[in-house]
Amino acid sequence: MLRSFASRYWPWAWLLLAMLAAAACWNHAVVSAERTHRDVEQTARRELAAHVDAFEHYLTRSIAQMDQVTMQLKHGWEQSGGTLQLDALYRDGMFTDPAFAEIAIYDANGRLLSRVGRRHAGRTHSTPGRVPASFPFHQTNNSSALRIIVPDGALQANQEFVQFTRRLDARDDGFAGVLALTLDARYLTSFYNQRLLGGNGIVAVLGDASTLRMEEHGNTVTLAPGASLFATAPELGSGVGTRLLPGAAFYDHAGRLVSWRHSSAYPVLAVAGMTALEALAPAATDWTRRRNRAFWLGLLTLLLGALATHYSRGIQRQRVRRKAAHQAYRMATEHGSDGFYLAAAVRDGTGAVIDFDIIDCNARGAYFYGLERDQLIGRRISALDQGVFGTTLLPVYLKALQDGNYEDERQMAGDGRLNICWGRRSIVRVGDCLAITLQDVSERKLHERDIEHLALHDPLTGLPNRQWLVRELPRRLAATLERYGALAVLLVDLDDFKHVNDTLGHGVGDQLLQVAAQRLAALMRTGDRVVRMGGDEFLLLVDPAGEGNDLAELALLAERVLAVLAEPVSLGVEAYRIEASIGISCYPRYCGESADHEALLRHADIALFSAKSEQKGHYRFFDASQYVLLSARAHLKHSLAKAIDTGQLSLHYQARVDVVSGQPVSMEALLRWQHPTLGMVPPVQFIPLAEASGLINRLGELVMRQACAQLAAWRDQGLPLVPVSINVSPRQFSYGSVAAQLARHLAQYELDAHLLEVEITESAMVADQVDVQAELTAIRALGVRVFVDDFGTGYSSLSQLQRLRLDGLKVDKAFTRELDRSHEGRVFFQAIVSMARALGMTVVAEGVETPAQMALLRELGCHQAQGYLLGRPVSAAAMAASLAELDNRVKLSLVS
Ligand code: C2E
Ligand code: MG
Ligand code: MG
Repeated sequence: MLRSFASRYWPWAWLLLAMLAAAACWNHAVVSAERTHRDVEQTARRELAAHVDAFEHYLTRSIAQMDQVTMQLKHGWEQSGGTLQLDALYRDGMFTDPAFAEIAIYDANGRLLSRVGRRHAGRTHSTPGRVPASFPFHQTNNSSALRIIVPDGALQANQEFVQFTRRLDARDDGFAGVLALTLDARYLTSFYNQRLLGGNGIVAVLGDASTLRMEEHGNTVTLAPGASLFATAPELGSGVGTRLLPGAAFYDHAGRLVSWRHSSAYPVLAVAGMTALEALAPAATDWTRRRNRAFWLGLLTLLLGALATHYSRGIQRQRVRRKAAHQAYRMATEHGSDGFYLAAAVRDGTGAVIDFDIIDCNARGAYFYGLERDQLIGRRISALDQGVFGTTLLPVYLKALQDGNYEDERQMAGDGRLNICWGRRSIVRVGDCLAITLQDVSERKLHERDIEHLALHDPLTGLPNRQWLVRELPRRLAATLERYGALAVLLVDLDDFKHVNDTLGHGVGDQLLQVAAQRLAALMRTGDRVVRMGGDEFLLLVDPAGEGNDLAELALLAERVLAVLAEPVSLGVEAYRIEASIGISCYPRYCGESADHEALLRHADIALFSAKSEQKGHYRFFDASQYVLLSARAHLKHSLAKAIDTGQLSLHYQARVDVVSGQPVSMEALLRWQHPTLGMVPPVQFIPLAEASGLINRLGELVMRQACAQLAAWRDQGLPLVPVSINVSPRQFSYGSVAAQLARHLAQYELDAHLLEVEITESAMVADQVDVQAELTAIRALGVRVFVDDFGTGYSSLSQLQRLRLDGLKVDKAFTRELDRSHEGRVFFQAIVSMARALGMTVVAEGVETPAQMALLRELGCHQAQGYLLGRPVSAAAMAASLAELDNRVKLSLVS
């Protein structure tokens, strides 16, 4: 109860204290002023008494002088028998003091007998000359004592005089007259001391019962002429004394401190007084000073008190607010799943925040730190999170303190100290504290990571994928740029991998890709990465470490890549080899300083393309001339489209002969492009281009039409006809039915189906696609015979060929070349011939160039042969001539 009262009202204590202090100030001022007042009054009394003492001495001495003078004159007069002439005395230098107004001698009847005075000196005044007021007294009293009176009217006439009178005795001691000595009253009262008594003081001589009265005032007293400053006869005691007479006692109503002393010899009283105001002026000044000081000091104290109260109330309000917020946070978070901490700022001497103290937290918050609430409260954050406080936490907290709030998601220190991996922080400023809420988002983050990992990685090989590269490469390039380093990209493409998939199935293809990925990854150093770009394409992101020697290093790496990939892969009982081509681009060497990641990739792509088209199974560095090649290809592609329309393409024919009889049994139609500027462009250059661009469809159509038209023309010319064998690209199957096209052209030129033959490369032949199989069946159903071209270069198996029920095999010229060179070559050829015979297929040897080859083929039982030895590809016209000759020979033999 008392505590809550104290905690509620404590700010007012400042004001109360200030008031007490102000009161103490005043008290001190009043007490001190009173003491000063007393001291000043005592000093004034003392000084006044001393002054009156001196005054009384002076007065008594002065009267004593008058007493003596009058006594001498009395004696002189009495001795002279009443003939004493005052004039003579005056002339002798007596009474020359200006204080003496008049000395006169009156006889017993009051007649003036002799007189000297200022009148004689040319000065006039009303009083002298008149019979003194004490005359009757002296007449009736035979006392020779001196009488002192103030002449009537003297004061009124503003002439202050005092008269000393003495009885003159006759020889018989009878009354003889009066001697009167009139003195300027100022002679007695000139004791006024301005310094001591001030401007309103008074010096007075009073007689018995205050009758006789002479006064001298300070220069600021204004009175009517002859009036006394005393309003009434002052009641002063006998002897000596000092009193403070009230204002009523005085004409000007100013109270005065009055000191008096009776003359020791005469019935007169010396009086001196000064206004209480002047007497106590130092006290008044002192009081004013003390009062002012107390006032300002009190005011200042009160002001400070008020300020302190105001400030304290602010603090109190802030505390209350903080407490309320604190409680609200506590209530809201106590049972929640989020951790909550209230951290108070710790400041240094300059007021800068340097740390935070945890002043509260909930159980969950403490759990994150592996502690109990009581253990965490009171801890300093810098001590709790030593490793990261200065670098990571403090800047964030300062920002939150400045901005009012802050939010982020943060990976917590992974040192096993905390029971949380990822936290969502929201920080709110509450006064000089931070309310920190920490939500455990570890599970979601891990999930997000999994998802991100999935999105950025290839599921088959576990390698980063193209998306990863697209995201990573610009960053890597920027980092490279920053450190003036180098960055290389090796684009690795497995050669003929499509064939693997087509012939061995996707299961084997996938396994080979996994093996390739593992082997590539094993080659990488820390920091280098392998990316699966898709299909059979991999990318190596490499930081060439060698200074200036990066090309040699990259070449070495490329060779190692080719070598490790080429090592046999055993899958079950079978062993496979992976061949690859590599395109390399390197920043900044081939891209220039201004290159971007897209240029880097594009250059690697071009280099790869160049490797593939020049020599598979090798690597190529990007070089600008490849651009030229590429643009030449682009140009060629463009002109090929035009060539189809403008009839630059024509067919040449090469004879295929029976090995035994040497008679032509067929002829192969081979496409020729007579380019207006480039001259003859070989099919190996433009067929792949046509295949890649889709022009192959139109090209195939053109070949079919021209072959059929030629056959029809020769027929019409009456020439003996042998079948024409046309090459069909596997790509043509994806553009529509080849069988239907053939049927259409045969019908158009009214040709027998057996006059046409189709050559299809091995890979297309053995494709898994059902439609290709169906197509081939349809072609054969027309009566058109189908041959496998370039047999031996693909992966076809005999069972596949058997299933397709083909008419013949054209063994690739590479095998024909080996026939007369090695035993293995002959054995291989023998195997093919026996196999084909068993399947009822015709075997054709391609590329026969020597008679030895021809003899061997005959020996091995090969059916047919084609090659330069037997006839080069020739134009239709040339072929027509050969046919005519053939015709003649036939006719000749018939005749013979
Ligand atoms: P191919 O179908 O295997 O054609 C045989 C190729 O071998 C022809 O080359 C021919 O000139 C060449 N040749 C013939 N005898 C010999 C020989 O004794 N020694 C050597 N070294 N070569 C010989 P060509 O005409 O350059 O054709 C190349 C390839 O172009 C053809 O190979 C074929 O695959 C393709 N091709 C040609 N014309 C067409 C066509 O009209 N359509 C399609 N789709 N492909 C075609
Ligand atoms: Mg061919
Ligand atoms: Mg061939």
